[in-house]
Amino acid sequence: MVLLWLFLIGSKDYHDRLGYVIHTCPDCEVRGVFTVVQERKKATLYLVPTFQYSKKQFMHCPTCGEVFEVASEIKKELKRKLISREELVDKIKSGKIEKLLKKGKKGGKTTQLKCCNCGGFVLKGMNYCPDCGVKQK
Ligand SMILES: [Zn+2]
Ligand SMILES: [Zn+2]
Repeated sequence: MVLLWLFLIGSKDYHDRLGYVIHTCPDCEVRGVFTVVQERKKATLYLVPTFQYSKKQFMHCPTCGEVFEVASEIKKELKRKLISREELVDKIKSGKIEKLLKKGKKGGKTTQLKCCNCGGFVLKGMNYCPDCGVKQK
């Protein structure tokens, strides 16, 4: 608990990554692996840390980098569709991700690349790392 407390000091708006969801971007219309985050806002910090949890959730488009707020009506649905990082890596390794992304369409292989910043996975076509959000070169 102490470690966690120390870790949280100094972060103002903190984003918890909830997971990933396969979704079509309303902006660039590309189907991709969206990162879903929950916004956590710090209220007041006394001797005992007091945190206020914001209920806002956001989805990051890996293609255009646009961030969308998740409407409360679709939060439940989104929660059901959420996949963890482990599941996502699993899907990438087993090739299932291609089916999910292409949705029936025939196409080339989804190439897995490495993030230039954190070294995490990035799929071809993704301009932003789903892990750290850094734009790919
Ligand atoms: Zn987009
Ligand atoms: Zn990264």
